Amino acid sequence: MAKRDYYEILGVSKSASADEIKKAYRKLAIQYHPDKNPDNPEAEEKFKEAAEAYEVLSNPDKKARYDQFGHQGLGGNGGFGGGGMNMEDIFSQFGDIFGGGGFGSFFGGGGGGRRTKKGTNLRVKLKLNLQEIANGVEKKIKVKRHVVAPGVTFKTCSACQGTGQVKKVVNTMLGQMVSASTCAVCGGAGQIVDKKPADADSRGLIIKEEVISINIPGGVGEGMQLSMSGKGNETPGGIPGDLLIVIEEAEEGIFQREGNNVIYDLHISFIQAALGDSVEVPTIDGKVKIKIDAGTQSGKMLRLKGKGIKDINGYSRGDQLIMVNVWTPTQLSKEERATLERLKDSENFKPDPGKQEKSFFDKMKEFF
Ligand SMILES: [Zn+2]
Repeated sequence: MAKRDYYEILGVSKSASADEIKKAYRKLAIQYHPDKNPDNPEAEEKFKEAAEAYEVLSNPDKKARYDQFGHQGLGGNGGFGGGGMNMEDIFSQFGDIFGGGGFGSFFGGGGGGRRTKKGTNLRVKLKLNLQEIANGVEKKIKVKRHVVAPGVTFKTCSACQGTGQVKKVVNTMLGQMVSASTCAVCGGAGQIVDKKPADADSRGLIIKEEVISINIPGGVGEGMQLSMSGKGNETPGGIPGDLLIVIEEAEEGIFQREGNNVIYDLHISFIQAALGDSVEVPTIDGKVKIKIDAGTQSGKMLRLKGKGIKDINGYSRGDQLIMVNVWTPTQLSKEERATLERLKDSENFKPDPGKQEKSFFDKMKEFF
């Protein structure tokens, strides 16, 4: 198979500057990096091809020979002694083109493609009542998490020399290839337990119960998930996982939630409805007094502005909507009955549907 032109591989012109060549290679190296393309031989080939092209075009001496004589000027294989470049050579270039730690941090590890290990996430459910949801609340939650045991010491894993990866040379039809995989002995951590207390497991971890304090913002809802970075399980030689808090809304006796509004059912007597009254109603912030107008119909909806739930994305608050229900007595004494009998035929007591309050749902529509 004929070797491709090095400029073509990097996608640059023959007059490209050293900086343009470097940039073009960096792009390809990221695109075809084995960490991003596991078990993809085609990507690996492209990765090696680009590395070889860069190796030549970034070296003024080799570039001059290549410009004048092509692949022949380099002995036909880029001057790599027959086997092409191996992964070790390629990775050793990275300090140059990615300016030290840059490439390592991009892939979350050292130049050899080692990743930072992360502990597993913990998930807990947290039940909140409407009052807590409305205003936000600080909660203390008990979690059992894996932590590195006190007194545990680690030593460098000898199987991978602390790199967390083992490289294997594989013979293929195209020549030798080096493949890297996570070290089975240390699980990629690069270190293993040296000394540990008796209660720690083989990874040097113990289960510890901790009380974690969390500030829940107002306006959270059922099923919402909050994440506390680094409060999950620890892992030796890595960073801890996250603690995920899943919100549950407790069944509320007296309030119903509708978005950021809370709905409250108020029951008044038909005397109160007819004469008007001042009544106390509960709100999320405590009791308030409201005025019932004389002649209030059942189904009337009253609004307490700003007594609802905080908007999770802003500073506004929903309202409390009070649904008025007029209570019809179900039991009457002899005297009560006699009093009502006297009023029975009064014109004022005859229903006038034209004055009827709108239905609950019509009211809701009007309110939102
Ligand atoms: Zn190892």
